[in-house]
Amino acid sequence: MYIHEISIEVKSIINVNEIIDEFGLLMSFYRGNGQTQGNIESQYIENNKIYCLPYTLEKKSLDIIYNNIYINNQIEKIQNLCNSSLKFKIAGKSYKNYSTPCSCKKRDFYILYTDYLTIESPLRCGNCYKSIPLYHIPIYEDYGYIPILSWETNYKSCDNLQMNCEVGERWSINQMQKTDSQLSKQGLGICKKIEKITSIPTYYYLYNYNKISSDCPSCNKKWSLEKKSNNFYDYKCDHCKIVSTITTKT
Ligand SMILES: [Zn+2]
Ligand SMILES: [Zn+2]
Repeated sequence: MYIHEISIEVKSIINVNEIIDEFGLLMSFYRGNGQTQGNIESQYIENNKIYCLPYTLEKKSLDIIYNNIYINNQIEKIQNLCNSSLKFKIAGKSYKNYSTPCSCKKRDFYILYTDYLTIESPLRCGNCYKSIPLYHIPIYEDYGYIPILSWETNYKSCDNLQMNCEVGERWSINQMQKTDSQLSKQGLGICKKIEKITSIPTYYYLYNYNKISSDCPSCNKKWSLEKKSNNFYDYKCDHCKIVSTITTKT
């Protein structure tokens, strides 16, 4: 992942602390538009300058061509308040587990997937299994991709509960591995909409804790694959558009 540095110097009479909230709002707009990853970025003030260091999937993730109107309006507002211009530069690349996003020319299908650790995009390429920046698909809703990110947060919350074991473990596992849970219904609905706006089949990743059989849990047809696909999924039902893996909890 790339780490960008966004900064602005306050050259007006306004107090720098008053700009911080506006700056935070801009960061949440970038996040909602799929241009930055993860929910927390470092923000700090030095002298009269505000800095923020968000993660992005690509070098060009913050290019103006991907901005929506809310981002552009907020940039203008901040620049007017500060009487100066925002500055963008690449601070570096994260040194750990860096993998570039998908660059496939043609994608046969997408997979909606996340887990408690990752800050990559929840949209994966079915061919290479790398993540796809959300701003590369058509706008999901007027203000960006917030419904997809809301499912992502819900999924991560459940995955955290099952990893921590003590609170709501059984409940969260059921949310993740039952096709008719609230979480799965939300995810499957998102897959349908992504498929509609992209015309690319979109599969939902169903969690599996030593449970799933060779029959699809939704339609009961055979869904286990002869060979693991892309070293990722072992099960795929083209009828219900779900994939899964053989998972063993360690
Ligand atoms: Zn790909
Ligand atoms: Zn099925």
